[in-house]
Amino acid sequence: MKPYKNKINRIRSFALGLVFFGFIIMYGAIFFRESAILVTIFMVLGLVSILGSTVVYGWIGLLSTKAVQVVCPNCGKHTKVLGRVDMCMYCKEPLTLDPSLEGQEFDESLNRKR
Ligand SMILES: [Zn+2]
Repeated sequence: MKPYKNKINRIRSFALGLVFFGFIIMYGAIFFRESAILVTIFMVLGLVSILGSTVVYGWIGLLSTKAVQVVCPNCGKHTKVLGRVDMCMYCKEPLTLDPSLEGQEFDESLNRKR
């Protein structure tokens, strides 16, 4: 199994990770309650992390408008393609918008090639 994931899904899991990270850090502040400075630092870090995830979620929304909605030829579901090559959100079928890349081995680096 290749480690590739649909880009939008991947950013979404990153944002979710940030939320969890933020909550864990804020929870960690409990262990330092003797020190007001440490508690403040942990709380601020946690808050920044959660705010960061909000920004990332906003970014996903922005990217989604740029992504091209296609019907996956493999599973028939509607999925979003970001960049030249991306993966189906449901079945991880490699998809491309560039006919010249069709049939090529799926490679994330194709997104960067001109
Ligand atoms: Zn699919």
